[in-house]
Amino acid sequence: MRQCTDRPRVAVVGGGPAGLAFARVLHRHGHPVTVLERDAAPDARPPGGTLDLHEGLGQLALDKAGLLAEFRALSRPEGQAMRILDTDGTVLRDWRPGPDERANPEIDRGHLRDLLLGPLDVRWGQAVAKVVPGARDGVRVHFEDGRRETFDLVVGADGARSRTRPALSTVTPHYTGVTAVETSLDDIDTHHPDLARLVGDGSVAVYGVNRALVAQRNSGGHVKVHAQFRAPADWHTHLDPADADAVRSSLLTLFDGWTAPLLELLRRGTAFVHRPLYVLPVSHTWTHVPGVTLLGDAAHLMPPLGAGANLALLEGAELAESVVASGPAELDEAVRAFEERMWARAERWARITTAGLERLVSPDPAAALAVFDQVQPSR
Ligand SMILES: Cc1cc2nc3c(=O)[nH]c(=O)nc-3n(C[C@H](O)[C@H](O)[C@H](O)COP(=O)(O)OP(=O)(O)OC[C@H]3O[C@@H](n4cnc5c(N)ncnc54)[C@H](O)[C@@H]3O)c2cc1C
Repeated sequence: MRQCTDRPRVAVVGGGPAGLAFARVLHRHGHPVTVLERDAAPDARPPGGTLDLHEGLGQLALDKAGLLAEFRALSRPEGQAMRILDTDGTVLRDWRPGPDERANPEIDRGHLRDLLLGPLDVRWGQAVAKVVPGARDGVRVHFEDGRRETFDLVVGADGARSRTRPALSTVTPHYTGVTAVETSLDDIDTHHPDLARLVGDGSVAVYGVNRALVAQRNSGGHVKVHAQFRAPADWHTHLDPADADAVRSSLLTLFDGWTAPLLELLRRGTAFVHRPLYVLPVSHTWTHVPGVTLLGDAAHLMPPLGAGANLALLEGAELAESVVASGPAELDEAVRAFEERMWARAERWARITTAGLERLVSPDPAAALAVFDQVQPSR
């Protein structure tokens, strides 16, 4: 490998929470970094729903990036409100945050992305095909269009289907047995005031036998609805995902027997996105390879229960700090030490979220309520 005497040539593959946090903290410290993102532009696809950022995780990362004050201005503390209903509509829990409650405020993904992007010079439309370590002059990044570039450190922050991961590990994500189908409602306060009352300022969740329905308010009166259920991975093969009527009708059959006002969340959704939940093993580690590492979902894809983006952000910020603090000769050791810390923390969260998913979409709805009471004992 090339002996780098100057600042190492650093690239990050992926401009999601992990990649952008990494790049933004490097930028804050004046360290150059190349951000390679497959999307053609920041608004190339819908940014997704809302994220709750925890005080000791995602918020800590934004603090390291110098963005905590801006996050506080953009985020929605009232979005922490959580209501749990029985399938007949009975309110089982109704928690609202106090005025100073800042443990897990919500932020729209699009707002978070724009906050992190700030002054960063992302190279859009750069789809990476594979990463090959061990070349004499560094680590080769191969692009889908046939080009190649060489760097001293390549950080794979390219999500669940990472193209960087195979350079370090043969492991691939496996299906959890739970599928989510997402739909959304726009301008809920004006067009669906009854559902606006149901959802409140934050989220409403309903847990039935092997099924759950979660609706979550984003900014601007937009609400995302997730129907989750246990089903084979090929549950949807007989359906055309673009045929909203057919998907809606299948979901209404699956949730048959639930009280009508809850089913309106599905009836009034206009488009449906199929999201089978895949995960990596709870403990995913690899033999260290000089010049390449992974962050976020690329390293530890886990059930979407409020940890993934938080870990991705903090790992990005921490790895950037390690890069800044080490001279060229110490860089590899710094990355190795970072990986050990990341693996230990990610394993803890993977255990929590895996057990959480087992209980939230389970034959025993009481188990789901117990998760809520355990995770938020103050509620
Ligand atoms: C429905 C849902 C709700 C969730 N809610 C929460 C929550 O409330 N709190 C929380 O902490 N987590 C939540 N998560 C999890 C969270 O979304 C992920 O853990 C997080 O986005 C991971 O960030 P990342 O940067 O590692 O990967 P990603 O967000 O997947 O970003 C990867 C980036 O890499 C790019 N990319 C991919 N392949 C390539 C390639 N070959 N070349 C170049 N670029 C590439 C992609 O375009 C993307 O921009 C949720 C997940 C889901 C599905």
